[in-house]
Amino acid sequence: MSQHLRSTLIAIAETEQQGFALQQQLRRFEKEIADVNELVAPVEMVFQNLQAEKTTLINQQQQMENELEEQRILIEKLEKHVPRIRNEKEFEASKKQLELCRKHRSMLEENLLEVAIKLEDLDPKMAEQKAELEKGKQEAEEALEQTILSQKQTILAIQELENYFQKSFESAPRPIQQFYKRCQKNGLHRPITPVVDKTCGGCNIRLQPQFVNEFLTEPDNYRNCPHCNRILYMPLSEEETAVDA
Ligand SMILES: [Zn+2]
Repeated sequence: MSQHLRSTLIAIAETEQQGFALQQQLRRFEKEIADVNELVAPVEMVFQNLQAEKTTLINQQQQMENELEEQRILIEKLEKHVPRIRNEKEFEASKKQLELCRKHRSMLEENLLEVAIKLEDLDPKMAEQKAELEKGKQEAEEALEQTILSQKQTILAIQELENYFQKSFESAPRPIQQFYKRCQKNGLHRPITPVVDKTCGGCNIRLQPQFVNEFLTEPDNYRNCPHCNRILYMPLSEEETAVDA
């Protein structure tokens, strides 16, 4: 066993931990962004409802205008035709039809007026709501400016860390790589973990003093935790860290 292997194990474990911490940070940023955007959602909903209402009214208007045009044509035709009818029965029927058409026309005209008024009322409401929505979005954007920046930085840091992790992982001996992958598959977190206060950093069970003492005599070796089987390494002592630095 070499000091190199120990450094590799330390790099794998520490990069993994840093990665977890960054992932957590990223989730906090994502939640913050979602929470702020949530504040704008009701205003947006109102605006969309108004927009939908306007679309419906415009469709109604279009439909009624088409109908009105049809009635106009029909009325014009009947107005020319009726005076020329000689047959009394036919004359009465056509006259009645003309009356009905005129009634229908005035009803359509009334309805169109109503729709026009509704549309006119809708415009200032929509403008108001749109202004409020834009203000809300602007405020959210300003409030989140820093968070979005931090989010981007965190994503980059995670990518860098992943690259570094990959490099360390690939430089580890194959059996360790296989062990790590097996643990991951079995859902065992932190398969490579330090001895912390004479305790396994993974399962937190106290290690036998003899085990720790033996470990300390050969700190560059790794051992498996007798309780959880994780790969244990001895963290660098202060002297070792000073030498490394
Ligand atoms: Zn353990």
